[in-house]
This record gives sequence, C-alpha cells and structure tokens, in this order.
Amino acid sequence: KILLEVKDLTAVIAETKQQILKGVNLVMREGEVHAVMGKNGSGKSTFSKVLVGHPDYEVTGGTVIFKGENLLDMSPEERSLAGLFMSFQSPVEIPGVSNIDFLHMAYNARQQKLGRPELDPLQIYQIISPKLELVKMDSSFLNRNVNEGFSGGERKRNEILQLAVLGAEVAILDEIDSGLDVDALQDVAQAVNGLLTAQNSVLMVTHYQRLLDYIKPKYVHIMEDGRIIKTGDVSIAKLLDKEGYKAIA
Ligand code: ADP
Ligand code: MG
Ligand code: MG
Repeated sequence: KILLEVKDLTAVIAETKQQILKGVNLVMREGEVHAVMGKNGSGKSTFSKVLVGHPDYEVTGGTVIFKGENLLDMSPEERSLAGLFMSFQSPVEIPGVSNIDFLHMAYNARQQKLGRPELDPLQIYQIISPKLELVKMDSSFLNRNVNEGFSGGERKRNEILQLAVLGAEVAILDEIDSGLDVDALQDVAQAVNGLLTAQNSVLMVTHYQRLLDYIKPKYVHIMEDGRIIKTGDVSIAKLLDKEGYKAIA
C-alpha cells in the first residue's frame, strides 16, 4: 500500500519567493525505508520541512498524497495527527514545558483525534517507560524542559523517543546521524529499527553513507538542486561515498 506519494513538488522560500524545490517525485510504501542523500544545500531539509508544512516555505506546484488524502490541504498539526512525524535537523527547545507534559499532551491529542479516551499521567508514564529503554534515556529527562540544555545526542534521542511514544506511519528523520558519536548513532539506529513495522515507513535524510550501515534503506534517492536526480538501491550510496556525486550524476 502506498503511504506517501509526492508528484512534481515545487516550493519557494515564503519570504523571498526563491525557488528551492524544483519538481520532487517520490513514492513510499508500507514497510519501506528510504534515504534521501545529497550535497549540502541541495534541498533535503527543505523537502522534509515542506512535507510537514513548515511556514518558511510555500508550495507552488505539484501534489502530495498521504494515506489517500491531500497532505497539502492540512495544517502542520493535522499532518502530525494524521501520522506524519518529522525529526528536525536542529530540534527546538520548548521553554517551560517538560518532556513528559509535552508527550502527554501530544499523545492525548492523537487519542482524541482517533476517538479514544485520554490517558492520565500514570497511564502515559507506563507507555513512555519502555520507550525510554529503547532509546537508552534516563527517566530524569522526562522532567526536564523539552530539549533545554540537551546535548546534540540527547536531542536526537529525545526526537526518537517522541516518535516511539507517538507513533507515525511516515517518519522523516533529518540528519539524525549528525553530531552523534558511533555509540549514540548505534543506539539511535537500533531504536529506529525497533520501530519499523510492515505498516509504517521511514524517510532518512542524510549526508553520510555511514548511517546506512545501521539503518538499511530499500531505496536511496539522490537530491540535487531541488530535484531527485537518481533513485536506486544502497549501492548508489556506496558509489557516492567512494567517488563523490559526479559518479552518479
Ligand atoms: P540541505 O538540507 O540539502 O543541506 P536545505 O534544504 O537546507 O539543503 O537548503 C537548500 C537551499 O535553500 C540552500 O541554499 C539554503 O540556503 C536555502 N534555504 C533553505 N531554507 C531557507 C530559508 N528559510 N531562508 C533562506 N534560504 C533558505
Ligand atoms: Mg544542510
Ligand atoms: Mg539539511
């Protein structure tokens, strides 16, 4: 079953109208891991942010169908409630809101949307607790404000914790490998692999082939100047790593 279908997607920076996405095409089905690779500045983060409805960008053409619905008609919140998750390259701090309160609110918003009863603090803790183990985070992180004073690695783990607790049919992970040492990378990758099922899919955005040693994509897409110029299996990522972007263009 197709989860996400992107057709000829074009987008500009809202403020300057500078075109960044110049016709992106991508199809993701259930149970698939996809990787988007490309040089710095090729438009990978813009593509991810446009999918979640980031206000810095304006879609100027093309279509995005998510689980049979027009994604571009939905607000960012509706997209997230519908099961689209994005981990940002630089996760934001939310001053004054503790991690557990954030997860609690977000979880209950989803419950409400699904017509299910809201959970009380104890019930939410019982859901979060095993997920903390999955991402190897200490429970003391739950009482700290979201991402405040977190190291780069802790922020990445926290993003995966959010994904693990909230669940998503399509998870977009933008450079979850950046700034992580090998141990942290292995933990994060293991946690992501633990979340993969036959019903969901993951879009990994990365600069480095290294991540693909830990999370195995079925398809690798190469982005250049706002377009996906090549799609293949993991061998094109290896070629890229060895011979650079010229080898595959
Ligand atoms: P990547 O993630 O592949 O490194 P980005 O999507 O972050 O690339 O950026 C693509 C291009 O768009 C870059 O030249 C970047 O400077 C520009 N860009 C993206 N977002 C903005 C913005 N909000 N304001 C100005 N320029 C932007
Ligand atoms: Mg970049
Ligand atoms: Mg980026």
